[in-house]
Amino acid sequence: MTKRRPLIAGNWKMNGLKADGLALAAGVAAKLKAEPNVACDLLVCPPFTLLAGVIDAVAGSGVAVGGQDCHAKVSGAHTGDTSATMLADLGCKYVIVGHSERRTDHGESDAVVKAKATAAHAAGLIAVVCIGETLAQRDAGQTFEVNRSQLRGSLPEDATAANTVIAYEPVWAIGTGRVATPAQAQEVHAVIRAELAAIQGPAVAERTRILYGGSLKPDNAKELLALPDVDGGLIGGAALKVEDFWAIATSA
Ligand code: PEP
Repeated sequence: MTKRRPLIAGNWKMNGLKADGLALAAGVAAKLKAEPNVACDLLVCPPFTLLAGVIDAVAGSGVAVGGQDCHAKVSGAHTGDTSATMLADLGCKYVIVGHSERRTDHGESDAVVKAKATAAHAAGLIAVVCIGETLAQRDAGQTFEVNRSQLRGSLPEDATAANTVIAYEPVWAIGTGRVATPAQAQEVHAVIRAELAAIQGPAVAERTRILYGGSLKPDNAKELLALPDVDGGLIGGAALKVEDFWAIATSA
């Protein structure tokens, strides 16, 4: 079995003013500097207003920085939007696309997510492509079908294990404190990897990182991150505290 290096990614969402956001970033960077041999890659995705400051705060530490969204176009008349090229120009390495909050709040379809991921790749960024079923879909027995279909619709043709990370985030587990059981997480991750193999071939699927997201906390991280097809986590609430984020990172 291919050894995939886990990615522990913090999605700060719309949280953080200058003082606390920069202190959080500096705190994560200090942890990694003190313990550089941690067995995972670390990523923080602050709000756009803090990107430049966070990039400075973590410089030289090994902590990567990403945006939480990007526009599919490089530039133009798109008031309020930020392109992947701009994120890369600033020093970002990653960008999250298709988070369920973007799909819900901004009506983003799989096609939109795919266009954003394609733009991320063109700008040299790694796209963290989010998929996941709602509670109604799970209750209706549609979990596998929904995730397969979102993956097929959101994954760009040029996706590789190097430029793409998949994040499985069951919508019912995001910010709810209700976490997927290890069995629930593993079975969906395995379905996603099998679908990746069908789309891209088994070699790419074996090397692609699939993150779990949804109420991942220090006290449940160890068992979820130990699952064979879980290659790290996308973390919301617990990424806002240095100690919690670090505790999850050291569980990986
Ligand atoms: C997320 O925002 O991607 C997320 C998983 O949030 P939380 O960890 O707070 O559930």
